[in-house]
Amino acid sequence: MTSRNQQLFELSQKYIPGGVNSPVRAFKSVGGVPIFFQRGQGSYVWDADNKSYLDYVGSWGPLILGHAHPDVIKAVTETAQNGLTFGAPTEAELEIAQMLCTLVPSIEQVRLVSSGTEATMSAIRLARGYTGRSRIIKFEGCYHGHDDALLVKAGSGALTFGHPSSAGVPAETAAHTMVLDYNDLTALEQAFSESGKEIAAVIVEPVAGNMNLVSPKPGFLAALRSLCTQHGSVLIFDEVMTGFRVGATCAQGLYGIRPDLTTLGKVIGGGMPMAAFGGKREIMQCLAPLGPVYQAGTLSGNPVAVAAGLTTLRLVQAAGFYEKLSASTRQLTEGLTAAAKKHGIVFCAQSVGGMFGLYFSAIPPTSYAEVMECNKESFNHFFHSMLSKGIYFAPSAFEAGFVSAAHSSEDINKTLAAADQIFSDWK
Ligand SMILES: *Cc1c(COP(=O)(O)O)cnc(C)c1O
Repeated sequence: MTSRNQQLFELSQKYIPGGVNSPVRAFKSVGGVPIFFQRGQGSYVWDADNKSYLDYVGSWGPLILGHAHPDVIKAVTETAQNGLTFGAPTEAELEIAQMLCTLVPSIEQVRLVSSGTEATMSAIRLARGYTGRSRIIKFEGCYHGHDDALLVKAGSGALTFGHPSSAGVPAETAAHTMVLDYNDLTALEQAFSESGKEIAAVIVEPVAGNMNLVSPKPGFLAALRSLCTQHGSVLIFDEVMTGFRVGATCAQGLYGIRPDLTTLGKVIGGGMPMAAFGGKREIMQCLAPLGPVYQAGTLSGNPVAVAAGLTTLRLVQAAGFYEKLSASTRQLTEGLTAAAKKHGIVFCAQSVGGMFGLYFSAIPPTSYAEVMECNKESFNHFFHSMLSKGIYFAPSAFEAGFVSAAHSSEDINKTLAAADQIFSDWK
């Protein structure tokens, strides 16, 4: 008997390329049929066959309060009654802008957009407009959305021009992007000493979460800060994932670094399409209508999305919120590490606030190349085994995982018991 999931996936492939609206959803990395969800509540989701799963994806980061938090649903529902969009300013937009500027000290002014991709694309254009320079630096394995300038991989030799990592990106566009290894200070210093005066911006995930989880080595972010200051380049922290995920003041607060521009998304939209970019007033005022850098959006600052975001941001400010979230996440990573060790499996894990990385390797990777050395077959076996026990991790060895405030200690213990059994039967 074919499941409803399978039927839906087969039919979807007829009408939607690959059957999905974003590639990682297709389970291509782990194999098998993607799960079609029908509802979520707290830490759980239910698929089209009504099977429940404990969810460690949380829509890839936004759902820090879990699914369908009653306060968020109430705010969204009430706001929707008063009209879905105006294409004109509203008081709630002012409120969330003030809140973001208060919570993130490096943000003096902020503009709302509808996706993380829009935020990073706009931040890059703004940095170029502000500096009058074209070149940017990004790091291998960091993902900043699907803007042409950022879909770039390293060419041969660290300082050669970048190459498109997607068909359809002009080589001329990619050539303005230099791609360096994450955590590689020597390459960074060399890039700045050779072409510092041409570098408009450096964009970085302050904790990389799109190549599994890679944390910054001590001194890496501080060196980025000082090199950008020294050469007049704009330092952009892409906190679309880490913003209000790793702590109340984002990764920049955690590591004590003040970027010039910050991009936010995921958590700040509370599950609705909303993102933002903001930073130094002097830079932000180059944006239209004040300045020459054009940027716009019909649905930017959408009232329903703002309502979800505001409610979420209020709730995460509760005393002890991140301490508790970090403790739950550590309970998971430490428990999994202990279970693997008990059964002699090469595995490790780490977390930063409410995000975590699982690695089938002896020590956590510090670069994209090291991430690629982790055992992918072991991950895929672990993923499918956990899935069959009703526990949903990201369907790829190259993604970070997320714990929400709705995950209880019992949820984590249930996960650890399942993992213990899987590790004890390890082939
Ligand atoms: C998810 C993500 C993006 C892209 O955001 P979308 O809303 O998917 O466009 C950009 N940067 C980082 C660090 C992300 O994790």
